[in-house]
Amino acid sequence: MRIDEDIKLDFKDVLIRPKRSTLNSRSEVDLIREYKFFRCGLTWQGIPIIAANMDHTGTFAVAKALAKHKLLTAIYKFADAKDWQALDKETLKHCFVTSGTRKEDFERLTTILKTTNTSLICLDIANGYSQHFVDFLKRTREAFPNKIIMAGNVVTGEMTEELVIAGADIVKVGIGPGSVCVTRTKTGVGYPQLSAIIECADAAHGLKGHVCADGGCVVPGDIAKAFAAGADFVMLGGMFAGHDECAGDIEEKNDRKFKRFYGMSSAEAMQKYYGEISDYRASEGRSVDIPYRGAIENTVFDILGGLRSACAYVGACSLKELSKRTTFIRVTQQLNEVYSHHEVK
Ligand code: 5GP
Repeated sequence: MRIDEDIKLDFKDVLIRPKRSTLNSRSEVDLIREYKFFRCGLTWQGIPIIAANMDHTGTFAVAKALAKHKLLTAIYKFADAKDWQALDKETLKHCFVTSGTRKEDFERLTTILKTTNTSLICLDIANGYSQHFVDFLKRTREAFPNKIIMAGNVVTGEMTEELVIAGADIVKVGIGPGSVCVTRTKTGVGYPQLSAIIECADAAHGLKGHVCADGGCVVPGDIAKAFAAGADFVMLGGMFAGHDECAGDIEEKNDRKFKRFYGMSSAEAMQKYYGEISDYRASEGRSVDIPYRGAIENTVFDILGGLRSACAYVGACSLKELSKRTTFIRVTQQLNEVYSHHEVK
């Protein structure tokens, strides 16, 4: 046993220090990024925010709404192959096909990639550290040399490097930070998300790879911190949950409206997709009813407005410059919450 005494940070532990700026208005800030992926040789352009491949947020309706603003969606892995074919070209350009590492996942992935011409793949397992996952990634890279492959999740530099070497264009970073994740309480395993992003981005960028920060953002400021820490993409579950475009019906309780949201490793998800709760594996997700939030577009505007403003505060004309112009300061308090329980909505 060993103890790493270095302090590891989360979004709540830091703020971004403002810097002198020549920008006149935050509307001048450009959030579009362009990445060239050296593994597959493709170039991608858009706003690098991704709706999570959870069955509530990774829907075609969410994808259509987000694609209008050049944001991405990782479609959940159980989505019907037929629905993929019905998708319009513009939305398709903004969708990842998700796959696990089972034989049937690979077959489904192959079918979707053959019948649509999407170029984005998301290989997702809870624990990206297994050799089985690395082998699966290598096999996928061999089968699809010209696709952009995102793979994860991991939280350390050495495993980020291993995934890039094995064929990933984008390494997905985050173990335990998610809004409906209970991995840390069930297993004691995890890594504070801001430090995970900083360390994995450094490792990936050294090999010309990219990273996607996945999980733990609860306000637009956290997304700004994730990009500032070096994330090339940010994936959101909870922040995109509860909207019209998300899966599930609106429920009413005591005159208030809710939508059901649950972790993809929760008992609810296991029961739904596998018909049983496996007895060798603890459920590592929770089920929650979250307040209904209307159209997702309003949340998109809120997020993009926050990001533009963050860039303006540090004098970054574009999202690309945010990280270079960021100095994080460690803090013991983020907010003044004296009236937070009296807010008029
Ligand atoms: P959020 O943005 O809600 O904080 O985090 C979303 C991320 O949580 C997802 O992209 C995924 O990586 C992770 N996640 C989703 N469902 C589960 C689950 O059941 N258990 C765990 N450990 N993580 C989950």
